[in-house]
Amino acid sequence: MHDSENAPPRGAGANTRLAHAGNKPLNYHGFVNPPVVHASTVLYPDIATMKSHSQKYRYGLWGTPTTDALEEALTELENAAGTILLPSGLAAVSVPLLAFLSAGDHCLIVDSVYGPTRRFADTVLKRMGVAVEYFHPRQAPDLAGLMRPQTKVVFLEAPGSNTFEMLDVAAAASIARAGGALSMIDNTWATPLLFRPLDQGVDLSIHALTKYPGGHSDVMLGSVSANARTYARLRETQMVLGVNASPDDTYLVLRGLRTMGVRLARHADTALNLATWLDGHPQVAKVLHPALPSFEGHELWKRQMSGASGLFSFVLRGSEAEAAAFLDALSIFGLGYSWGGFESLAILVDLSDRVLATAPSGGPVIRLQIGLEDLADLRADLEKGFLAAK
Ligand SMILES: *Cc1c(COP(=O)(O)O)cnc(C)c1O
Repeated sequence: MHDSENAPPRGAGANTRLAHAGNKPLNYHGFVNPPVVHASTVLYPDIATMKSHSQKYRYGLWGTPTTDALEEALTELENAAGTILLPSGLAAVSVPLLAFLSAGDHCLIVDSVYGPTRRFADTVLKRMGVAVEYFHPRQAPDLAGLMRPQTKVVFLEAPGSNTFEMLDVAAAASIARAGGALSMIDNTWATPLLFRPLDQGVDLSIHALTKYPGGHSDVMLGSVSANARTYARLRETQMVLGVNASPDDTYLVLRGLRTMGVRLARHADTALNLATWLDGHPQVAKVLHPALPSFEGHELWKRQMSGASGLFSFVLRGSEAEAAAFLDALSIFGLGYSWGGFESLAILVDLSDRVLATAPSGGPVIRLQIGLEDLADLRADLEKGFLAAK
């Protein structure tokens, strides 16, 4: 029978779930995709309905069939109690921190965290009177020693931004819980396809949907998926702050999500191929890619995640000037921030804000976002870079 839910069967594969999650065509006259609902006002039939709050949709900010469709898809993919959408990945970091931290609290954050997350913690959280403390990803098994009675949040990211350090997520989440704190993870690199943090005991899973779910470098959006004990407070905070997602951006991400599995497989395959080649290159001191057996965090990655995505870094044997020459010589790889789109990108990584997980020795760090182009062309482009850096 075709019911209006059209939900993927329990235990369905990743691509089956991506194709059907949150999809309810019979709610929209059979059209495969939900309408893009532009809305502020929602009308009610009478005062009794208004007063009873019984109507499903009440006001534009509170959600529409479009935002519901993406939220439900992500909730299903993350095995969560609920998901909120926010206008950027960074807002998806700041809103849960605001929801669960108050003056006098202590917050532990992994030192290899996304740079703007640290800036939020070091400015807004500190101004709020929250004590912010960083830990090395390698310290994750010993987090119990850093927990204080005031510790309310342990913030994780695995692999770490730009340097890709892995950590034992389940162990860190369990230490947080035992100490009376919530755990949150920025799960952007793995996407909900390669890692499901809530299944490992993490309370909140954060995504920059701007990256692989959007996939086309044309949209910014974020999400937070929460378990049953955190969802209500998360949703309430989103509503009191007045932040939600635009209908067009929501639609673009929902559209991107349907093809994310095949894109991700291609990104991952080309990236691992290039990483393996770079690993043996005489001008490369080190490749920072969790799926490489030579990488320090490889075993932790293999045990926890079902695959890798297409973003990694390498340490160039040379000076900053040679790194600049390398990057300037590239023509297929664009020079630009963000990642997860169809096109390859390269940046010179700045790790000057790290306090513990400091820059690897041996030379400047170059981060590569591997797009959907052909492997041979990308490799030839990188070869031009190495020639220019000699
Ligand atoms: C890009 C990114 C973000 C922020 O996403 P935006 O949509 O660009 O604000 C957060 N976390 C990680 C790990 C990211 O790479």
